[in-house]
Amino acid sequence: MSSLKTHAIIGNSAAGLSAVKAIRKTGDPGRIVLISAENCNAYSPVLTTYYIGGEIHRSHLFLVDDSFYRDFDVHRVFGRRAVEIDPISRVVYLDQGSKAGYDNLLIATGASARSLDTVDADASPYVSTLRTIEDADRIKEACENAKEIVVTGAGLVSLQFIKAIVGRGIKITVLVGSEQVLSQQMDPESAAIIQDKLEGKGVSILFGRSVERVIRRGDRAHVITNFGEGLSADLVVVGKGVQPNTQLVKGTEIKVNNGIIVDDRMRTNMEGIFAAGDVAEGRNAITGQMEVIATWLNACAQGEIAGLNMAGYPSERQGQFRENITTILGVALASIGVSRPEEGEFREIRYKDPKRGVFRKLSFEGSKVVGALLLGSIEDAGVIRHCIASGMDVSLWEEKIARAPLDFGRILGGHDFGWPFFKN
Ligand SMILES: Cc1cc2nc3c(=O)[nH]c(=O)nc-3n(C[C@H](O)[C@H](O)[C@H](O)COP(=O)(O)OP(=O)(O)OC[C@H]3O[C@@H](n4cnc5c(N)ncnc54)[C@H](O)[C@@H]3O)c2cc1C
Repeated sequence: MSSLKTHAIIGNSAAGLSAVKAIRKTGDPGRIVLISAENCNAYSPVLTTYYIGGEIHRSHLFLVDDSFYRDFDVHRVFGRRAVEIDPISRVVYLDQGSKAGYDNLLIATGASARSLDTVDADASPYVSTLRTIEDADRIKEACENAKEIVVTGAGLVSLQFIKAIVGRGIKITVLVGSEQVLSQQMDPESAAIIQDKLEGKGVSILFGRSVERVIRRGDRAHVITNFGEGLSADLVVVGKGVQPNTQLVKGTEIKVNNGIIVDDRMRTNMEGIFAAGDVAEGRNAITGQMEVIATWLNACAQGEIAGLNMAGYPSERQGQFRENITTILGVALASIGVSRPEEGEFREIRYKDPKRGVFRKLSFEGSKVVGALLLGSIEDAGVIRHCIASGMDVSLWEEKIARAPLDFGRILGGHDFGWPFFKN
């Protein structure tokens, strides 16, 4: 019998791929079995809106090709959904009746977009979430001839989708439950800057709205809101956030809150079972709270830590917190750490320069910066990220951080704190 260990990984995306690389980096010769419900090589969900917008070709969505799996000696089981885990006999059951044994198991099943539960069955062809490459194909095709599109929700995914299709002569209406866009990242003052940009491009935003029902009328959808409005749409794109894919561990003793609960080594409470990425709930290094941090960078970092531990190299995730950097209709935006604190929770310094379209808000706890929301001027996002992650005493420079990004960078000695974004 072979003494080589079998590492089974469920999920072929940011967390799963990072784990594969980490296991092999240690020189571990064990068998890696990579299971994915989708029958394709790994791709970036982050880039799907650029594909929909025609900025990149479909082939550019893929992060790796066949040679990656060959070079890393990965046995692919793609197009198969894991449906059950037996942690006692260390077996993962797949659909269509097959199964895979393991010594170590990583659950990296990510998250699914929340759907609308008020859609009539015959209207469903006109309604889509945006998460997978399949969603992106469907939405891209529907956008080709669309005249009117309704978007529900004004989070980052919704706004990135709008950015992709704005300016094509499509009437876009956004239904927002709260009273502002980007309510997870921004306060009302900074959100108003993004709202202005959207409205300036002809996007209608209706606040305080929920969808009562979506019915079919002819070859279109008809969206009825809680205000009784009726909106016709060739396509309804649902942006209601995501839900960790934890169904697999139902009925086991693996602890789940919102996501699968992990420690700093990405271990669940069951021996030999790890979780990483959008499915995992870990400790936020700033707040100390357990939470799912559903970002690409976090999934990569957690996947790497899980892989190292699976290979027998004890490693801990450091500096885990929310962070995002993007551009919405020409406005560069970075939210790092606690970017949307409760009123009075932290000491704040704000800097505004409306002429240059700059808004910067930094939150401090004692002498440490714990969060930043930067609009229009984000050159030093990497430097600020470093300060937050390291818990550095910035009391001498806090005004400078808020106002003058380049000077602040020089103060720290010109280290390269670059943002390792989307690299694999
Ligand atoms: C349009 C869009 C824009 C985004 N923009 C950003 C951004 O700007 N910045 C950022 O940080 N993040 C962004 N994200 C979020 C980012 O894509 C996710 O955080 C990241 O993909 C999470 O990676 P993951 O490996 O945890 O899981 P996922 O990418 O969700 O992958 C999950 C994998 O598990 C597989 N799987 C799921 N269930 C099963 C099962 N039961 N059996 C077998 N296989 C299964 C899936 O097929 C897939 O391979 C964006 C997402 C979208 C959709």
